[in-house]
Amino acid sequence: MLYDFRSFVNPGKYAFGKGSINHLGELIDKQKNEKNNWSVFIIDNYFSGKPLMSKIPSTEDDLIIWIDTSEEPKTTFVNSYRDLILAHDSYLPATIVGIGGGTTMDYAKAVGLMVTNPGDSADFQGLDLIKNEGIYTICVPTVSGTGAEVSMTAVLSGPEKKLGIKCDYTIPNEVVFDPEILASVPTNQRFYTGMDCYIHNAESLNGTWITEMGKAFAEKSNELCKEVFLNKDMDRLVADEKMMVASIMGGNSITYAQVGVCHALSYGLAVVLKVHHGVGNCIVFNQLEKYYPNEYKEFKEMQTLHGVTIPEGITKECTETELDQMVEVSWALEHMWNNAFGPEWEKHITKDMIKDLFRKM
Ligand code: NAD
Ligand code: ZN
Repeated sequence: MLYDFRSFVNPGKYAFGKGSINHLGELIDKQKNEKNNWSVFIIDNYFSGKPLMSKIPSTEDDLIIWIDTSEEPKTTFVNSYRDLILAHDSYLPATIVGIGGGTTMDYAKAVGLMVTNPGDSADFQGLDLIKNEGIYTICVPTVSGTGAEVSMTAVLSGPEKKLGIKCDYTIPNEVVFDPEILASVPTNQRFYTGMDCYIHNAESLNGTWITEMGKAFAEKSNELCKEVFLNKDMDRLVADEKMMVASIMGGNSITYAQVGVCHALSYGLAVVLKVHHGVGNCIVFNQLEKYYPNEYKEFKEMQTLHGVTIPEGITKECTETELDQMVEVSWALEHMWNNAFGPEWEKHITKDMIKDLFRKM
């Protein structure tokens, strides 16, 4: 059962298919006018010096911000990127273009909003705290699974919490899906981010907040994830195209439902041990046979088939204080527990049970 009525937002425009990136310049030009005639490119620094850059239509008037994805998006960096943009020209940019995975797209989404909403981005972590629409934002996903390209959230780590900025404006205005860009994603990362999508579906389908709308998206997404990851010989481009669609559908499934046990625990790992979202979810899901038995079995099959390693023993050296911190971060994500177990979720899970799960990771 949903907490509150909400009317959900999706990106305004989608361009999908091989070679779509070649049309990025046309899409950017459509947004320019006499004064707002330049763009900001927020790009995963993996692509610096890579062939993809020859397809990026940046000009000398534009600002390029390279993103180091070794850490997840931080409110402090969002603020400093916003300051760079405001210092670049006396007029605002016509577009913000985010090119990368969930980390880079979340930066693009958040920075686009902070340009028009003065203040510290940490003060906007939460629901409906943003007042003004942001700069027109175009996202180009380069690895599939998070659904950040279609979600109403920009997940940020602030001084106090890992929590999304979420409102009607935290959505890209336009998304360009070009599966050829995914060819260079390494096997492990492709699996970790792909499993983020698979886990979104597992958590929404098994949750108490599921509706026919969320179910339809999650079922189709799940079917695509399984086609791709329960098959070792599928042509890579075909598989990447399928995972782009799976990511869109999985992102929508959690928009219309909610994530559950795995995400609540993986946020604990992210905040205390700085574990990345995709791999963090895999580390957690590896211990969740009890809560998602059917999906756990499939997850292990997919992992074995693709020969992917999931780190183990990462909490072995943790102090009791660190474990307790992880428990507190997870425990505070009430909406996730509520989705997983219903409004009386505290009867189904205790802090001790959560701590025991963390000890096994
Ligand atoms: P990422 O953006 O963190 O990138 C992971 C790695 O893949 C990086 O090393 C990156 O350089 C590399 N990479 C990306 N594209 C590549 C390519 N084409 N070729 C080679 N390497 C490539 O990964 P992610 O899993 O997409 O994103 C994780 C982030 O997404 C987390 O910060 C998480 O909080 C966020 N997230 C957001 C939402 C949302 O709704 N906004 C949902 C889920 C996750
Ligand atoms: Zn996720």
